[in-house]
Amino acid sequence: MKNEKNFTKHIVVFVISSILLTLALNMLIMPVLTKPKVEETNYSFFLDKLEEGDITLVQVKDNEVKFKVETENKKQVYVTGRMYDPNLVERLHKDKNVVFTENFEERNILLEFLVGWVLPIIFFVILWNILMKGMTKRMGGNAMSFGKSNAKIYVKAQTGKTFNDVAGQDEAKEALVEIVDFLHNPDKYAEIGANLPKGALLVGPPGTGKTLLAKAVAGEAEVPFFSISGSEFVEMFVGMGAAKVRDLFNQAAAKAPCIVFIDEIDTIGKKRDGNFSGNDEREQTLNQLLTEMDGFDGTKGVVILAATNRPESLDPALLRPGRFDRRIPAELPDLNGREAILKVHAKKIKTVENIDYNAIARATAGASGAELANIINEAALRAVRNNRKLVNQSDLEESVEVVIAGYQRKNAVISQKEKEIIAYHEIGHALVAAMQKSSAPVHKITIIPRTSGALGYTMQVDEDEKFLMTKEEALARIATFTGGRSAEELVFNTCTSGASNDIEQATKIARAMVTRFGMSNTFDMIALETVTNQYLGGDTSLACSAETAAKIDAEVNDIVRKSHQKAVQILKDNIDKLHELAAFLLEKETITGEEFMAILNKENNNNL
Ligand code: ADP
Ligand code: MG
Ligand code: ZN
Repeated sequence: MKNEKNFTKHIVVFVISSILLTLALNMLIMPVLTKPKVEETNYSFFLDKLEEGDITLVQVKDNEVKFKVETENKKQVYVTGRMYDPNLVERLHKDKNVVFTENFEERNILLEFLVGWVLPIIFFVILWNILMKGMTKRMGGNAMSFGKSNAKIYVKAQTGKTFNDVAGQDEAKEALVEIVDFLHNPDKYAEIGANLPKGALLVGPPGTGKTLLAKAVAGEAEVPFFSISGSEFVEMFVGMGAAKVRDLFNQAAAKAPCIVFIDEIDTIGKKRDGNFSGNDEREQTLNQLLTEMDGFDGTKGVVILAATNRPESLDPALLRPGRFDRRIPAELPDLNGREAILKVHAKKIKTVENIDYNAIARATAGASGAELANIINEAALRAVRNNRKLVNQSDLEESVEVVIAGYQRKNAVISQKEKEIIAYHEIGHALVAAMQKSSAPVHKITIIPRTSGALGYTMQVDEDEKFLMTKEEALARIATFTGGRSAEELVFNTCTSGASNDIEQATKIARAMVTRFGMSNTFDMIALETVTNQYLGGDTSLACSAETAAKIDAEVNDIVRKSHQKAVQILKDNIDKLHELAAFLLEKETITGEEFMAILNKENNNNL
């Protein structure tokens, strides 16, 4: 605010001082420069020269006579006092050489104008430009662009993305295809009387391809596409964000039909709250946006797309029909979606033939499109590290683990004793998992430490995609998480800090069972917690009294304890297998699910 005022002040001062300087130049200096040199002389000299006929110009004033003498080699202007000389005018008139004049000085008006006005203006304009350049540099490049939106404009195919680049997300694509189609053939829709939705909001967790979808729309739509990020509206000065919104919509209206895409709209679209500490600038920007969205009529063909991963924080006014009335979800991809995304990105790298993408997709439940893209890239990097020209299956499998657990810490020094504990811990997880019906099969067990801090882990991969979790499955998962600690207790009669992550995970599931899934014995179908941040980590907030909270804690503890006891019992019943598998893992460091099951089943056969 202050800066901006200063800036305007600078402009005013500069303009006024340039005008004053130019005036001074014209009034004080110019006359001196252009004035012919005048020599004073006496009246008799004037009369002499008149006799001789050398005078060409005369100006008679009240008390002086100015005249110009022109001889062959000299031109000179003289001035003399005026004497009483009644016949002077007559005499002068007779002399045909003489010209009477009012405007004595021979003035070159054009030259004077050029020197007096045009030159100074040019000079000041140049000076201004030089000053502005300096200022722009100091102010980070936008001294003159206050209130201008910096939306990038794309026209067809400039983003280089099409719907083919977006795998999965079929519902989202369908909704967007309709919008693109409307912009191409508005008549088809007008005929039946349908109105184009003014705005569509892409919502979903980070990395699910919201920005990518918008770029694909830009690539497909043969209309101008304005893209701007919500954060670009956030300005230092109050009112600037609103000015940018206005500018953006003015541009859009001029280019209609067109699409305007506002990424991360939650930065400006947050709920307005009643408290006074509220951010004035943000609120003004939002109000401007609301006004603009009401302002243009839908038939013009300006469609507004926006993306956010915090839809719950958006102002309800934004979401009402007539503004962003259409919500397009971009959810985490399912099994088929993951496979498709992997294939889309695998096209960019060179791979060996017949890679099993389905296996990779199954191992990456819950991964977003961005993570899958990253897995493909990691695999390519690994192939290069190993001096191979083509990416193979093991590259992909390893990079899944890199993305889940970080890189291998090859030179981490871990004592033999600790390694043994880690091996038993991991086999504990795997055994408990394998011995429960409702548990996903073990895919891989490793005790190679990772940069994420994991000292080892057990990977379980479901056969097919799961959308629901039964109570049995939930309990089985908790038991599996407690399996690691159970093995430590059984074999070494102690416990280590290595189970901290397991504890966290087990608690999370147990808590959700009690507070959100209605799976406890104490409470009925009561929502005791609400999810506040659906797409970003799923934070929850408690919605119950303190006494109830205490009961919840007791219930959660109860669930985990029972599962823990169950896990210990499973390991006790299979203690021989625990020892054998742990020894095998300690030797191999990494074993596959098949190797694990082979040993497990062999033992079973022996027992029979
Ligand atoms: P966000 O939803 O956070 O805006 P982006 O659109 O920026 O996510 O996605 C990041 C990257 O993830 C994309 O550039 C793309 O490489 C990859 N990606 C995400 N979803 C998909 C998808 N459905 N198909 C193909 N690639 C995807
Ligand atoms: Mg994005
Ligand atoms: Zn563990």
